[in-house]
Order: sequence, then structure tokens, then C-alpha cells
Amino acid sequence: MSVALDLPVLVLNRHWTPVHVTSVKHAIVLACKSHASFVCPVTYTPHSIMDWIERGVLSGSRLMSARFEMESPEIIVLGDYDRVPPRGIAFNRRNLIRRDDNTCQYCGKQHAPDGMTIDHVTPLSRGGPTDWENCVLACHRCNGRKANRTPAEANMKLLKKPFKPEWSPRYAVYARINRPASWNNFIPKGMLETAGAE
Ligand SMILES: [Zn+2]
Repeated sequence: MSVALDLPVLVLNRHWTPVHVTSVKHAIVLACKSHASFVCPVTYTPHSIMDWIERGVLSGSRLMSARFEMESPEIIVLGDYDRVPPRGIAFNRRNLIRRDDNTCQYCGKQHAPDGMTIDHVTPLSRGGPTDWENCVLACHRCNGRKANRTPAEANMKLLKKPFKPEWSPRYAVYARINRPASWNNFIPKGMLETAGAE
């Protein structure tokens, strides 16, 4: 059951806005403490864990343990207790690589992470900050070509305007690889594009 317990579960806040992705295991812990309800992927009705077990397995995969059997949750909604707040996404190289999907934001080519560098759109030496809005992934070649200039000065065009991701890059990975269809109604379409899905 260990792999099944690691599967991703979409976490909605009490306003039914997606805020996080957690594991089935953690979702069960939250539901057992009455901090969250399991959401039926068909009717979107929230269920307490006891209701959920009683409900049986309707559409999803079966989760079995020695003590109980139930449908594996795909979505949970938090109650008043909001211990899984929206998380600010740390600006760091790893998350930038995820945001820009290993793609040089000037030439559009994908490279291995070690073939990439962080480019300050407005150069650091000219007061450009090191943050989500001023940094992009660039290959060494484009970075060298741009040098100490703005894209306009270097006559280089950015693929897209750099932005602060509102979504956990960790989620983006799940979104591409392993997103249950039941999540679709809760995830803004633009977000899926950002995540590189479809
Ligand atoms: Zn490039």
C-alpha cells in the first residue's frame, strides 16, 4: 500500500480553491483529525472519513488495509482548521528550472540543468533584482550573447514575461505526470499551461 499512499491529493481550502498537493497518506491523517473532508470526484460532495469508508469504492482506486477498505481520495477540502496554507514559492535555481521547464527563455532550447544559467533580464549590475520577475533560465550561449544588456539592447526576445508562480512547482510536476481527471475542474486552465500539461 506504500506506493498508493504516496499518490498526490489535491488540497482545496475552505473556499474550494486549490492550495496545495499532498499525499494520500497525509490526506488520511487530516481527515482522521477532522481537519479535512474527502471530496467525491464525481459529485464533489465532501465526506467525513467515516462517511467515506461507508460510501465504498465508486469510481477511484481501492485502498485496503487490515482495518478498512476505501476509495483512494483524489481531492480533499480543508475545514476551519487550515494547516496547509498556500505556500510562497521560494525563489531558487531548482524552482526556476521548473518554472521555465529546463528551457532557455531566449532560444527556446531545452538543456540539462547544468547547461543552464540564471539570467537577470535587467542586469544585476544595473540594479536588476534577483527575483521571479527579473530572472529567467538561459543557456550559456544566450547568456553570453546577451551579456550586460537588456533584451531590447541585445535584440533578443524573451519567450515569455517572467512571473512569480502562484503554484507549487512540485504540483506542476504532478500535474504533468500524474494528474487525476477529477482535479481539472479546480485548476485554472492557465495554470495547467504553466505546468506544461496538455
Ligand atoms: Zn539559449
